[in-house]
Amino acid sequence: MRVRFWGTRGSIAKPGLGTVRYGGNTSCVEVRTRAGTLLVLDCGTGAHGLGHALEAGRTAPLRGHILITHTHWDHIQGLPFFAPLFVEGNEWDVYAPRGLRESVRETLAGQMQYAYFPVSLDQFAATVRFHDLVEGAFAIADVRVTARYLNHPALTLGYRLEADGVALVYATDHEPHSRALASGDASALAGEDRRHVEFLAGADLLIHDAQYTAAEYAEKAGWGHSSVESVVASARTAGARRLVLFHHDPLRDDVRLDQVVAAARRQGGPALEVTAAAEGQTVDVVPTSLVPGPEHPASVAAETSPPREMLTRSVLVALDPGALREQLLEAVHADDLTAVSPADAADVLALARATPPSVLLLGRRLGGLDGLEVCRALRAEAEGAAAALPIVIVAADESETDRAAGARAGVTDWLVAPFSTLYARTRIRAWALRQACRWMRAPLPPDEPARLRALHDTGVLDSSPEERFDRITRLARRVFDVPIALVSLVDAERQWFKSRQGIEIQETPRELSFCAHAIHDDRVFIVPDALTDPRFADNPAVTGEIRARFYAGRPIRMFGRRVGTLCLVDRRPRELREDDVRALNDLATLVEEELASGGIGPTPP
Ligand SMILES: [Zn+2]
Ligand SMILES: [Zn+2]
Repeated sequence: MRVRFWGTRGSIAKPGLGTVRYGGNTSCVEVRTRAGTLLVLDCGTGAHGLGHALEAGRTAPLRGHILITHTHWDHIQGLPFFAPLFVEGNEWDVYAPRGLRESVRETLAGQMQYAYFPVSLDQFAATVRFHDLVEGAFAIADVRVTARYLNHPALTLGYRLEADGVALVYATDHEPHSRALASGDASALAGEDRRHVEFLAGADLLIHDAQYTAAEYAEKAGWGHSSVESVVASARTAGARRLVLFHHDPLRDDVRLDQVVAAARRQGGPALEVTAAAEGQTVDVVPTSLVPGPEHPASVAAETSPPREMLTRSVLVALDPGALREQLLEAVHADDLTAVSPADAADVLALARATPPSVLLLGRRLGGLDGLEVCRALRAEAEGAAAALPIVIVAADESETDRAAGARAGVTDWLVAPFSTLYARTRIRAWALRQACRWMRAPLPPDEPARLRALHDTGVLDSSPEERFDRITRLARRVFDVPIALVSLVDAERQWFKSRQGIEIQETPRELSFCAHAIHDDRVFIVPDALTDPRFADNPAVTGEIRARFYAGRPIRMFGRRVGTLCLVDRRPRELREDDVRALNDLATLVEEELASGGIGPTPP
């Protein structure tokens, strides 16, 4: 059984930079059995993309089945935009719970009345049959369907689909009946909550409403949605193998959803695999008996779900005890990877041979040994999985790196301190998944020591804000129509903002800094679309709260060195015209003149 998510969001479509990864479209899930039966679970705005994909790949008239859970907008709004319904020769069956007064057909026709939509239900060119459902079981081709009422303000059905030797349960828009369960306590299940868990029993894939956290739920009781905690507790009690959190709150951006998933995994423990539904993600659900041995304890092979892959991966952290080692362990744990930290070099070799990890993080110095020697020893005898093992040398500073010797020894990559935990985490994740890391730290400029001296000699770092600089950034924001304009100074480990418009933070780690890239050249440094630029796409300044999509920075020179930039950040991709570049040059020159004139304001205590 193959499952593909076309819409994952609850309540209202929420496209935008904050929801790029998990998706902004409302509920729509495509299910196909091996025999080719096509089922569509809900027809939220995600159905628009599905419909076009189906029509584009069509070689014969389409035959499909749409199972609607209930007729709230976020579950039916894509129906009038579902292209296969407008193609003659196609045949569709639409199933939904029967309302108290109206039939399914009448209810669905309601949103297509002329006041709301110009095309009526009668104008579907395909053959469309409507089926009014109540609780019970029936068959669609090779799929056994069980429909069960959920707890929601509208009459709502959950669907359990059994085919190909697996069970998929789609239960969205459901609220636990008891307060205890809502807070994640499933120890005393009774009545309807118990019946619900029975409905989920043994699901190979459980797609479940998880709109709120338990803390948020306190304010949202009665709105008809589940807390993540209640869903994890129910899934565990039901013996479900994999839980996919669904119906994401429109207020939850990708970064916060990552945090929700991490918390749910901690609660779920090793027996339950937890991910959050992501638009575009495909999941193959296979029976337990087809799951290969203990190396792959998870029951489901996901095609495009890195988080699942990571659960089975471990990282060997072979560094002498100290702050660097602690930081790396923290980074590994943050992604729920397993960290193994051997005591000495002999253990490293033995462990790497016996059970090759996904990544080996190896100190440049390890208990008096040279990390490169350890690397060479491993490579000399490596075969199979160990031969492909990424070996990353962790250097305490740039002086410890020797990239030529590293290449000869078989080093995959270098991680050079200082780095932020976030940066280490992103890189480790990429190595573990054998993926390109789309976040690159800027190399140090060749004149770094002299550059830092020039910066420190200005005395500007950590000084108070000054109107003469703020005037320029205000102007920049206005002239270029950008939300953020900064005078940014690139210090050894941070960029610090002498003047800032549009953001609250005073400084960020240097690795996040676009300006650290900009100071390599005198010209204006432009990133038209950070999301498509491998140097920046995974940078937290892009994926996180700042949501930087466009960047333009003009280096600022002091004592002949490029100490920082006057820079512009936008949340849309865009270009900079030639006259814009000239204007940015002019404004940056003003900043240089102000800096050169001295009289930097007092440094606050
Ligand atoms: Zn909904
Ligand atoms: Zn609803």
